Amino acid sequence: MTDPAQTVTNWARNITYTAREFHRPDSLDALRSLVADAARVRVLGSGHSFNRVADPGPQGLLVSIAGLPPVIEVDPAARTVRVAGGVRYAELARAVDAYGLALPNMASLPHISVAGSVATGTHGSGVANGSLAAPVREVELVLADGSTTTVARGDARFDGAVTSLGALGVVTALTLDLEPAYRVAQTVYVELPLEGLDFAAVSAAGYSVSLFTDWREPGFRQVWVKRRTDREAVDFGWAAPATRAMHPVPGMPAGNCTEQFGVPGPWHERLPHFRAEFTPSSGDELQSEYLLPRTAATEALHAVDAVRESVSPALLTCEVRTIAADPQWLSPAHGRDSVALHFTWVDDLAAVLPAVGLLEEVLAPFAPRPHWGKVHSVPGEVLSERYPRLADFRALARTLDPGGKFANDFVRDALAL
Ligand SMILES: Cc1cc2nc3c(=O)[nH]c(=O)nc-3n(C[C@H](O)[C@H](O)[C@H](O)COP(=O)(O)OP(=O)(O)OC[C@H]3O[C@@H](n4cnc5c(N)ncnc54)[C@H](O)[C@@H]3O)c2cc1C
Repeated sequence: MTDPAQTVTNWARNITYTAREFHRPDSLDALRSLVADAARVRVLGSGHSFNRVADPGPQGLLVSIAGLPPVIEVDPAARTVRVAGGVRYAELARAVDAYGLALPNMASLPHISVAGSVATGTHGSGVANGSLAAPVREVELVLADGSTTTVARGDARFDGAVTSLGALGVVTALTLDLEPAYRVAQTVYVELPLEGLDFAAVSAAGYSVSLFTDWREPGFRQVWVKRRTDREAVDFGWAAPATRAMHPVPGMPAGNCTEQFGVPGPWHERLPHFRAEFTPSSGDELQSEYLLPRTAATEALHAVDAVRESVSPALLTCEVRTIAADPQWLSPAHGRDSVALHFTWVDDLAAVLPAVGLLEEVLAPFAPRPHWGKVHSVPGEVLSERYPRLADFRALARTLDPGGKFANDFVRDALAL
């Protein structure tokens, strides 16, 4: 399907893609010939990124693979699933749960596509949980000439091939490791002070822990603790349990959020904050996020606290999470156990950019790596210093995509491809 005239925007509607044409092929063969004949291609996942990472530019084709068969093949004996890249986590999670199996973690929302999520290093929280790329064991790609290839764990190229910003080819399917299904109970606590915060202990008090604040006052307004019922519970003595259901964004309906008050439920109905059938987060917003070494968490939180009066007017909520180190060359958690400072902003770029600039200034001593799918203003030459395996990624991109068919301005600026 081709629609040159169609206007395509991202989920947040702050980006209108500048592609010459938008295509939604309905078969692998159609996708392969489309790619082979094109000069420039970028794939659009579910469009939940807040910047031009997916934009092919005015001469390029924007391609959605959501029209390809939504394959979800579970292998219960091997405990793996092969899933089409355009499938969203909500459908994937329900399908694997039906086999009594589970993913190790999920992001705050299940609405996002698998290929688009792992391409940007999307993550949830948990001191021992890697990003959503961590369980990926194989990626299947359509390359620039329309041929196909599979890159599996153990292949020398693998650590460049999962969190790859769409710069290597079209990811048509991925195979993921699964584990036995588990249950999770979620409890929200309120008013955790920053003064005297034992971040290591608080962030390890559950399987997945998120701290929220609007920075209008010091400290954290909410702490979401997701405990696996098959693990020993840590008593949360630092703050009081909430007495009403909460939404991380003040003023938004708690009914959009996953079940709280410690009611146990399936992993995929507790690990995301937002229910699949509702608009996640606020809906009218921009987002930024920075991953820093976890050892710097307390110092970095104090650095943000010192500028909170300048940052809070444009802020809806700030979320603090943890991510385990991973080996993917372009992962923002590459090689370092990380703390992620996330900012959900009002939908007004002019108001947001000064706050983003200020945060990047005060966080610079901690060498923050911005989330690839969110708003930031860190220049490419600074980013390069923060990714020690970037040269390896460039070499891989030159091998798999010698003509730069899958490059765009965003990745050229960020990675000097
Ligand atoms: C409300 C909201 C909540 C969010 N919560 C979180 C969160 O909890 N944690 C977090 O880390 N992030 C979060 N994000 C950010 C989001 O997860 C990322 O932006 C993610 O990349 C979105 O996936 P997508 O499919 O929408 O990707 P898109 O934005 O569509 O694309 C992202 C990149 O992936 C590439 N891509 C997509 N599909 C393919 C493919 N098949 N083959 C090759 N390349 C491909 C695109 O070209 C682009 O470069 C959130 C975003 C929103 C809007």
